Amino acid sequence: MSVVSMKLDESVVNVCLAHQRCPQIGRTPSVDCDWRWIYGVGVAVYESIEDLLELRQRLSVVREGILARTGIEDAPRMPGFRAHGWHATKDGPEFAEPLLNELDRGATFKGHVRFIVTAIALTSTQKDQVFDSLFIELLRVLMPRYRAHELIDIVFEADQSPLSRYEAIIAQTRPGTDVAVGTEPKGDSGLAMADYLLYATLKYVARVMECCQLEGCEVPHNPPEANSVDYSPEGGVELAGHLTGGDHALRMYKTFVRNMSSVIELPGVVGRIK
Ligand SMILES: [Zn+2]
Ligand SMILES: [Zn+2]
Repeated sequence: MSVVSMKLDESVVNVCLAHQRCPQIGRTPSVDCDWRWIYGVGVAVYESIEDLLELRQRLSVVREGILARTGIEDAPRMPGFRAHGWHATKDGPEFAEPLLNELDRGATFKGHVRFIVTAIALTSTQKDQVFDSLFIELLRVLMPRYRAHELIDIVFEADQSPLSRYEAIIAQTRPGTDVAVGTEPKGDSGLAMADYLLYATLKYVARVMECCQLEGCEVPHNPPEANSVDYSPEGGVELAGHLTGGDHALRMYKTFVRNMSSVIELPGVVGRIK
């Protein structure tokens, strides 16, 4: 049976345009802060079961390697990693780097992100509306593409939402084939890819916004995609922009850009928030 697996996640990143690496992030803004919120959803699409199984297999080897490594067994992150695997916002380099290095060798999924930028923090109700709209916009593009498959298996990363929320999203995406929809807690590395590619994309957007608010700047600010990125003669990814080699957001995005099929800002979604 031909099955497409889609793993989906939602996330928000907060950035201060007034201060690079604003010390107030996570607290209350100071009077001269100028904050933006970037709300986004991401998907990792595995176009066959083999693609999903191959990635899981490779990443389970990487995971075992991290668990067996001496010197980090007492790291505060270790119990969480042992229980739930990778989590982009929590993983320090000793957890993220082996993953990124493995993915640099090639990865068997296609990534898509949809996002909006707002100048105010949304209430939790508004946030749900935004995420739902972004999921619907994204899946409406993907569903026709995989119509010829027998089943589209859709998994959202579980938060507190009831399954009916996700069923309502799928109902609005007009699938042309059978769809199975469910939620899963963190743990599966197939799902972790959605978390990572989304975080890498939103961080890239945030860091570029942080670095540049120059009117008419000619450097491209939107994260590039696999078919728009420049490659060096040696096949390395070259990202033009304001980020430098030491920037973790750049490092992460470089890994994922080869798998990114679409990264699109949907400002129209903001106008629909009630
Ligand atoms: Zn600030
Ligand atoms: Zn710029």
